[in-house]
Amino acid sequence: MPTRKIHLKSFGCQMNKLDSSLVVGALGEQGYELTDTPEAADVIVVNTCSVRENAENRVFSNLGHFKYLKKSNPNLRVAVIGCMAQRLGDELLAHEAVDIVAGPAQLHEVPALIAEAMGDHDKHLSVSEKIRQPAASQQVITDSHKLDDFELAHDTDANHIKSQAFIRAMRGCNNFCTYCIVPFVRGPEVSRPPEAILKQAKKLVDQGIQQVTLLGQTVNSYQYKAGEKSYRLADLLGQVSDIGGIGWVRFITSHPGRFDTSILQVMASNPKVCPYLHIPAQSGSDRILKAMNRGYTAAEYIDLMDTARAIVPDIAIAGDFIVGFPGETDEDFEATVDLVRRVRYKNAFVFKYSPRPDTHSEKKLEDNVGDEIKQQRNAKLLEVISEISAEDNERFLGKEVEVLVEGLSKKPHLNQEKSGHPQLIGRTAGDYIVVFNGPKSLTGRFANVKITQTAPLTLFAAPRPSTA
Ligand code: SF4
Repeated sequence: MPTRKIHLKSFGCQMNKLDSSLVVGALGEQGYELTDTPEAADVIVVNTCSVRENAENRVFSNLGHFKYLKKSNPNLRVAVIGCMAQRLGDELLAHEAVDIVAGPAQLHEVPALIAEAMGDHDKHLSVSEKIRQPAASQQVITDSHKLDDFELAHDTDANHIKSQAFIRAMRGCNNFCTYCIVPFVRGPEVSRPPEAILKQAKKLVDQGIQQVTLLGQTVNSYQYKAGEKSYRLADLLGQVSDIGGIGWVRFITSHPGRFDTSILQVMASNPKVCPYLHIPAQSGSDRILKAMNRGYTAAEYIDLMDTARAIVPDIAIAGDFIVGFPGETDEDFEATVDLVRRVRYKNAFVFKYSPRPDTHSEKKLEDNVGDEIKQQRNAKLLEVISEISAEDNERFLGKEVEVLVEGLSKKPHLNQEKSGHPQLIGRTAGDYIVVFNGPKSLTGRFANVKITQTAPLTLFAAPRPSTA
């Protein structure tokens, strides 16, 4: 029988990328092969994101194309999974292109749903009912156990850089930031048992993985009680870094509220725990932070960043910001610029506010900052962030840094003739991107390189002539 082909479209965060790679891994074990061309696929899996309107619009535009493909290939099956699947459920299933809709908590069911849909022409729906209701809590735990089994059973690195893997530490979020859909589609926080995480990490390290990233929407909230002992993220980082053969351990994303400084202590004392903190502030205005329900003030956030730098002097801090939140004045925005100048991020992402259906801000707050102003604030903040990165990156000039080499850069031919090697890309423990010419055989390995030039987002290093 010819091999069946699967085409994957994955939108959104790292959590979605992990889910996508698990589904691809599970289907690969059933004989499916990945294809880059939807026209060649027997099954198309679209893993969706609801965090921004733009991501949802792109899903609908893809579905429009798949509807057209189904006319010439009636056996094609299309599965829509992820946050949008949970949010829209039946509405999405009614789309002509769609055969399967499955929410994030039903990830483990996707291979079976695809098998069923291949055998019939029915539509299949599997999403969580009342995901945030107390009555659903037992269901959340049951789903979580099933997801744990699914994660342990299937390889996750097939779709990733070979030397690196992502492991979920926890699911869901309890924070209810007023603009965010995540708590409504991913459900309440559930931390995975440390044994499951360690078992998965060990398996991956035995397969040659050098770096493990622990994932959670608010990963610093990780908490797992086993008898008398309560495990927090700092414990987990220590235990994962003890696995023989592991290189580096990272974690994303942190929430500034309830941030436990023991995480910073582990970072300072354990060279395997990378000195990198992705910790979105979202705004520098207390008024806007309150309206966002972020649970901290700008001064508290800055204090935490000062503490982080006092404990881990070389820590690299990355952030996220939303500009144009309802009611954001010029003064509020200037407070955000001030916070950015004060914290000096390694890099930060900036998003223009867009209301998400069913969130508090969509229901109760007027989206009253015009598009043009949002665009201006977005550009200004990015400019300030870039200026700061450009200045701060100069300190690397002439220094030797250790990188984990990811493979060929986007422009592998650059300087290839002169150096005799393609251009490679790697990252430092602080997550700084470094490009340099060197043998491709360095991929997946650690290498020391000397920085010769810097830019806001990239460091450039001298060629590495050999792998010795
Ligand atoms: S912390 Fe806030 S922004 Fe982050 S996932 Fe939870 S609700 Fe959304």
